[in-house]
Amino acid sequence: MKRTPERDATLSKLTPRTRLTVAGRDPFDHHGYVNTPVYHASTLLYPTAEDFLARRSRYKYGRRGTPTSEALEDALRQLEGEACAGVALLPSGLAACSAALLAVLRAGDHLLMTDSVYDPTRVFCDRILSRYGIAVTYYDPHIGADIAALMQPNTRAVFVESPGSLSFEIQDIPAISAVAHAHGARVLMDNTWATPLYFPALARGVDLAIQSGTKYIGGHSDVMIGAVAANADTVRDLKESVFTMGLCVGPDDMYLALRGLRTLAARLAVHQESALAVARWLAARPEVHAVLHPGLESHPGHAIWKRDFSGASGLFSIVLAPVPAAAANAFLNALTLFGIGASWGGYESLAIPFDCTAIRTATRWAPGGPTIRLHVGLEDVGDLIADLERGFAALAAAL
Ligand SMILES: *Cc1c(COP(=O)(O)O)cnc(C)c1O
Repeated sequence: MKRTPERDATLSKLTPRTRLTVAGRDPFDHHGYVNTPVYHASTLLYPTAEDFLARRSRYKYGRRGTPTSEALEDALRQLEGEACAGVALLPSGLAACSAALLAVLRAGDHLLMTDSVYDPTRVFCDRILSRYGIAVTYYDPHIGADIAALMQPNTRAVFVESPGSLSFEIQDIPAISAVAHAHGARVLMDNTWATPLYFPALARGVDLAIQSGTKYIGGHSDVMIGAVAANADTVRDLKESVFTMGLCVGPDDMYLALRGLRTLAARLAVHQESALAVARWLAARPEVHAVLHPGLESHPGHAIWKRDFSGASGLFSIVLAPVPAAAANAFLNALTLFGIGASWGGYESLAIPFDCTAIRTATRWAPGGPTIRLHVGLEDVGDLIADLERGFAALAAAL
């Protein structure tokens, strides 16, 4: 389908799942081939000096956009929905977080940051934003509308991440957004966990919605990429800042992300179902003190999750009943299908030990036992549960 206003109107009537199969490609611009080709490009030639001086061409320069980057931006815009006025592509999810913050903040501003934020984003605020005279206050992710008490005259942005990294607190984003907007502040969200398929951030009051495309968009643990989607109020600041800083993404990585998007809805449905099955199984185990999965009725954020989200992805944490660290490590070391490694969102299952004690300043981390984050991949659930059973046997043997 040609990218025209009429096409956008047609796409807007489709569900996001169908849009993901249609957006970002125009086969008859490319000899009928289904997928948009990968343009490896820096220099772009102009037919004449006059054309060059007038910059008369659809594209300007590799960094400033190619048919490949346009295709991915188009697909991401369609995924975000009608409220999206534009998307910026970044070389990683962390770069998407920092670029979104730099797009809205300037010297003398104040930022409200959730205490449950992805730790490298916290480090960016503490080490880089602080250099430019931007003050940061960390807040309890459960604050809701009480965030009003923390707003200062210079509060320019409120950053949310729901569920929280590692710890899975669910935030009341409509309530926080209402307060932020009443004070003239922008709302930025790291929406990597749910993706726009399960949490349409811009429709829930977020101004800049961030994703680490490294996770579910790529989906195969073979690409680093990030994206920021902006509404009409923030798109100019976002585009100007990303353009001026010279940020861009390699063409093969953009292609992998676009390829991943085609199957995102199908993969997420499996991640969701399998992760819930594994979470319920774990919740019934005597070795498990708590399961931190917002889709479980026992989760403190379940009611808000049910109200605002339409699904859950494959990532959650567990708190083991108190055992020595060596026994928790024995559990992890015995797993064969769950790999031990950072990142997530690929087809494969992962498990890592973690401790939030040193990365919380507004709240206290006291989960009641050793904590492990699990990513449930696309393997058979029965096989995964058998793997976890092996882990628990090793844990018992280590006591
Ligand atoms: C992984 C992750 C990021 C960073 O993404 P990279 O692509 O690894 O830089 C940001 N936010 C969240 C919530 C993440 O899980």
